[in-house]
Amino acid sequence: MPKKILVVEDEPGIRLSLSDELESTGYQVFTAGDGETALALAGREKPDLILLDLMLPVLDGYEVCKRLRMRGDKTPIIMLTVKDKEIDKVLGLELGADDYMTKPFSLRELTARVKAVFRRTEERSAGLGSFSFGGIDLDFKKFEASKKGKKLELTPLEFHMLKLLVGRKGEVLRRDDFLDGIWGEDNVSVSSRTVDSHIANIRKKIEDDPSRPRHILSIRGVGYKFVE
Ligand code: CA
Repeated sequence: MPKKILVVEDEPGIRLSLSDELESTGYQVFTAGDGETALALAGREKPDLILLDLMLPVLDGYEVCKRLRMRGDKTPIIMLTVKDKEIDKVLGLELGADDYMTKPFSLRELTARVKAVFRRTEERSAGLGSFSFGGIDLDFKKFEASKKGKKLELTPLEFHMLKLLVGRKGEVLRRDDFLDGIWGEDNVSVSSRTVDSHIANIRKKIEDDPSRPRHILSIRGVGYKFVE
């Protein structure tokens, strides 16, 4: 069965070119031109991935993302944005988006990102199932996490990054290791700052004092290391 993708974009031209490209790659595509329709379609069609434009009339992309996560929908989301400010990116990620792309982007890059998301989703069911450390329990299969029994809201991407760190605990991971392991080697446009933003978000969620992390350590000039 083809994977289902929901494309949420209010500009008809862009919506059409995105859905044409994804359909020709072999995906089943649903489209929405506004946030309300997007929420309804996401509930009804249960897509495997949502491409979500940030600037939408009435209900914007942030709000759609927030509402999906609030109702327990863990579908991976790639945010599409024209704003290139770091703050917008981080905001988007904190709301539970998995990745973002800044317009204009090439269709080739889009399909590379989409494939990377699906690859991560498929790897979810393989290998390390769960891991516990310092009061934190991670279930990599169900994408559930808790700290001292209290539920933690981690995005699928954050889970994948943690899995990479935990799976190689004690080793120093370079930012390139994350880029290759998470976004795939064909993705040249993801910067190492993106890795740092995600690490910062993960620390905020799991560390007692994110400014003095005990589990995800920064190794100056190299990358990060996970310790129990
Ligand atoms: Ca728009």
